[in-house]
Amino acid sequence: MKLDRTVIDELVVHSGEHAALNGRSTVATTVDWLGTAGKKPKEVAEEDLRAFVDELTSSQELLWARGTYALLVVLQAMDAAGKDGTIKHVMSGVNPQGCQVVAFRQPSAEELGHDFLWRCSKLLPERGRIGIFNRSYYEDVLVVRVHPELLASGDASSGKRPLEHVWSHRFEDINAFEHHLHRSGTRIVKIFLHVSKDEQKKRFLQRLDDPKKLWKFSVADLAERRHWDEYQAAYEEALSATSTSWAPWYVVPADHKYVLRALVGGIMVDAIDRMQLRPPKADPDESQARSRARTELLAE
Ligand code: AMP
Ligand code: MG
Repeated sequence: MKLDRTVIDELVVHSGEHAALNGRSTVATTVDWLGTAGKKPKEVAEEDLRAFVDELTSSQELLWARGTYALLVVLQAMDAAGKDGTIKHVMSGVNPQGCQVVAFRQPSAEELGHDFLWRCSKLLPERGRIGIFNRSYYEDVLVVRVHPELLASGDASSGKRPLEHVWSHRFEDINAFEHHLHRSGTRIVKIFLHVSKDEQKKRFLQRLDDPKKLWKFSVADLAERRHWDEYQAAYEEALSATSTSWAPWYVVPADHKYVLRALVGGIMVDAIDRMQLRPPKADPDESQARSRARTELLAE
């Protein structure tokens, strides 16, 4: 089961294209991939997600068996857009030995003592594995851009160049870093969960009203919400500057969780599919040894 090419093409930010977030829906794609007759869109999306999860399970095995590529999935979004739930649902069938999820929070003093890519590069997936970054080095051109005071302590050289250069230099460095990873066998897929301000409000209120969800809410999240427009602008610039042929961004409508989860599953299946992996062939030189092994086992 694969996500239709036209859907993927609609979600991707093509290299050199302006991401234009206002023109991209937070609700649905214009291509109607959920319109199976007689079924509710939610049912169709959930069925699709199950099929994508099955597909991911077997393609991850192939990824491991071949050991030639790694898949890195970078997830970025505003708070409550659905990153954690997506990871839980999309990765539900994948062998835990074949994947790793890393969440990046405020950097530690040690991390701030290094360049901004350092802490992430230590945690990249090895060939054969899927790595998911729940937030990433992109925070360093997003939250740090909205709050440049975070930069002063973290980047010793920042004071010696105008602030606007810091961001364009970081975009260049990110593109070069990702190109290097691509050339070394890491396939990179970057996903922005595009949620509306109204939907975030709804989800924050649900968290506040439900004792079981309350732990997910932090007062700091509301403070960040006040900077909504600055974040959208920072995202828009970052996505436009760093969507490349080797590491494209996908903007996934996130107001309906069933839509976003199925789409993320479909994007990941597509990414592995494009590696065109075939199961490794058995070594012909060992065919005699294998037949002796079979004979020996049968003779036990
Ligand atoms: P959460 O994902 O809800 O656990 O929140 C993690 C928090 O860490 C978010 O508010 C991020 O913006 C923040 N964060 C992640 N990376 C950085 C960074 N490089 N600099 C500053 N804050 C960061
Ligand atoms: Mg949070």
